[in-house]
Amino acid sequence: MTFEYAPAPESTSVVKLKSEYGLFINGKFLPAKGGKSFATINPATEEVLAKVALGSDADVDKAVVAARSAYNKVWSKMPAAERGKYLFRIARILQERAREFAVLETMDNGKPIRETRDVDIPLAAAHFFYHAGWADKLEHAGVGSSPKPHGVVGQIIPWNFPLLMLSWKIAPALATGNTVVLKPAETTPLTALLFAEVCQQAELPAGVVNIVTGDGTTGAEIVNHPGIDKIAFTGSTAVGKGIARAIAGTKKSATLELGGKGANIVFEHAPIDETVEGIITGIFFNQGHVCCAGSRLLVQENIHDEVMAKLKNRIEKIRVGNPLDKNTDLGAINSAAQLAKIIELADSGDAEGADRWSPNCDLSSKGFWYPPTIFTGVTQAHRIAREEIFGPVLSVLTFRTPQEAIEKANNTPFGLSAGIWTDKGSRILWTAKHLKAGVIWANTFNKFDPASPFGGYKESGWGREGGRHGLAAYLKGGK
Ligand code: NAP
Ligand code: MG
Repeated sequence: MTFEYAPAPESTSVVKLKSEYGLFINGKFLPAKGGKSFATINPATEEVLAKVALGSDADVDKAVVAARSAYNKVWSKMPAAERGKYLFRIARILQERAREFAVLETMDNGKPIRETRDVDIPLAAAHFFYHAGWADKLEHAGVGSSPKPHGVVGQIIPWNFPLLMLSWKIAPALATGNTVVLKPAETTPLTALLFAEVCQQAELPAGVVNIVTGDGTTGAEIVNHPGIDKIAFTGSTAVGKGIARAIAGTKKSATLELGGKGANIVFEHAPIDETVEGIITGIFFNQGHVCCAGSRLLVQENIHDEVMAKLKNRIEKIRVGNPLDKNTDLGAINSAAQLAKIIELADSGDAEGADRWSPNCDLSSKGFWYPPTIFTGVTQAHRIAREEIFGPVLSVLTFRTPQEAIEKANNTPFGLSAGIWTDKGSRILWTAKHLKAGVIWANTFNKFDPASPFGGYKESGWGREGGRHGLAAYLKGGK
């Protein structure tokens, strides 16, 4: 007997969309100079949600001037405990308006409401609570007895966790006494603009947070503006390398959180059913649009067939569809451009000789969709083993010995995340010690906490976000 799910759509009535949004500069919403704008759409339906101002060089300049003035006149003079109170207030408002944020994020991004409601928005609030507590305790952060902020920070974020990445950036910057100019991604600006309303509601002094929406050129204007003291960037390795080149020789410091190709390693003595759940979370959480996704599965050869059989059985149960439905597991791909990248890379897997498998699933003709997909028979030379797909596509490789697992796991230009599945504690410790990855999970995957530093080795970036290490990046003398 099969049990069908009844539709369980979350209502969108809690969201009050405006037809047009301006830039948030010096505490007010303003049109872009020159009046240019762009549309943001719902990737599950292709419906236009709103027109959003496209920030120019003049707008970035205005935002930097506002941030500098707020830094000099208000924020750097305010007692640290008072700064902390603003962060607590923002955190509480995010909790109060959590449903509104979750629905809006799902509409603008395409990710399932189950994830925005249970992961993105609660974690964003948690980041503000965590950093609010640090604001008046910075002398205990391990960066000297009187740590000082940089001043004005330029922050550029991607589309995969829009509000969460904003909170990873803004919460530590404000807690440490910096002011900010932030640019959200072009396809997902709406929760950043709702956050600007939260800043108004919290009566945050004007100019402490400025949100300049726009495209890559707007981001480049922030990077190149001489009034910016530090850049914090999350996005692709290619753009990250460009930023490193652009700021070389200037006074600007930078943290770069870039791409990844995480190895999820399954040893023969792993508890298989729990491991299968972890593999699913590792690659299908957020449609695989996750820099630390477990996108390379390394399975010990003698359990490969058993793991694959159970994994396929589990993938057949994944519900792909309307992101606003509370039963949906896998939502829409964020944009037509991202879908094209996923298709191109996955097709290279076929061309290079790997074996593709996907369950039967009905995909809507409107919007951008890709079925959960696994490739077996993948070798280390295949593009799908080397390049970041950033979609719901898993590449499966095998190994025979723990040493071989380490060699394969580390054979990547990236080094952001890894997972280890085994019931042997000593094997976990031995494996973690030999992996070149900034974040290593054992018998779990894709777990995040504001107190835990996050960041990578090699082409996955510079610096850490979260925890004491993340605070240090916003303080002079820190890394
Ligand atoms: P992206 O193209 O690098 O974009 C990231 C941000 O940079 C966006 O706001 C983008 O604006 C802006 N941008 C584009 N060109 C720029 C330029 N020349 N100068 C300054 N800013 C510029 O990356 P994406 O495709 O949006 O995001 C996916 C990538 O981010 C993946 O590779 C993923 O691994 C990485 N990521 C890393 C982490 C981490 O913590 N390590 C977290 C999430 C994502 P537009 O949106 O307007 O183009
Ligand atoms: Mg959108």
